[in-house]
Amino acid sequence: GAKEQGKNNYQFYSNKMNKLIQRKTQIEKGLRNAISKEELYLVYQPQYQLRTKNMTGAEALLRWKHPEWGPISPAEFIPIAEETGLIVSIGEWVIEEALIQLRSWLDQGHFPMRMSINISVRQIREQNIYRFIKKLLQKYNIPAKLICLEITETVLQKRDEAVPVLQKLHSLGICISIDDFGTGFSSLSYLKHFPLDVLKVDKSFVDDISNGQKDYPIIQSIIDLGKNLNLQVIAEGIETEDQLLLLEKMDCDIGQGYYLNKPLSSDDFKIIMP
Ligand code: C2E
Ligand code: MG
Ligand code: MG
Ligand code: MG
Repeated sequence: GAKEQGKNNYQFYSNKMNKLIQRKTQIEKGLRNAISKEELYLVYQPQYQLRTKNMTGAEALLRWKHPEWGPISPAEFIPIAEETGLIVSIGEWVIEEALIQLRSWLDQGHFPMRMSINISVRQIREQNIYRFIKKLLQKYNIPAKLICLEITETVLQKRDEAVPVLQKLHSLGICISIDDFGTGFSSLSYLKHFPLDVLKVDKSFVDDISNGQKDYPIIQSIIDLGKNLNLQVIAEGIETEDQLLLLEKMDCDIGQGYYLNKPLSSDDFKIIMP
């Protein structure tokens, strides 16, 4: 009967829930040791000026390869790291690793490219990220203007806490970028209150650019909004030549995506960088 079936559904549901919780607990446990066991590494996805096709910099993206489970997607482990607070120590590791890499490339005579680093809201709230980054810039002798911090709209929602920290970072010369622009729930008014330099148009808008009548004006409006606010506009997730040409036509400044290049290991990145 219906009651019996309800019970079965419940059991099915709770089995699935148990598996999810187990997996999460496992990932959390693994993540606690991932830094000391040297299971984390960074890959670098190049960014190109669309007008000239020159490389301008790269985004550092975190990777985790567990010895038994293999590679685990950041889409899965970053939210768990954020929830558990592990993102604070992992995020410190990411920042230092990215600066060490940049220093090494500069020492090898490569061009002074801009390194973009993703920052979670907890790093801004629970850590003196200003002092941390300032010290590392000195330690590795890196010009602040070569560093760009990518924040999401979650950070923008914590305006009272985030603005003073970002202002101090910005006054050092560090670039601040809004990631995944247009996908969050905050109002446009934050654009007035935050020290911003770059607007990253989310991949979801780029995806739809060539299919519809409506998407074209939407992405054009986002690009124009960025330009009117004196922000550099970067489109992410460019997968086709079509998208690239349209974005170029719409006067988007910089592009990033599989069509241009995938995220690369530091060895592979070195080969393609000027
Ligand atoms: P994100 O910052 O928006 O990074 C862009 C994501 O899109 C990356 O995924 C990148 O590999 C992927 N991507 C780039 N071009 C294309 C494309 O043409 N097509 C498709 N389908 N995907 C493309 P990834 O590396 O899996 O990272 C996912 C998210 O995890 C990032 O999104 C970022 O929010 C977060 N993340 C990654 N590394 C870090 C980190 O060091 N710290 C923090 N806090 N978050 C990180
Ligand atoms: Mg990003
Ligand atoms: Mg993004
Ligand atoms: Mg994204």
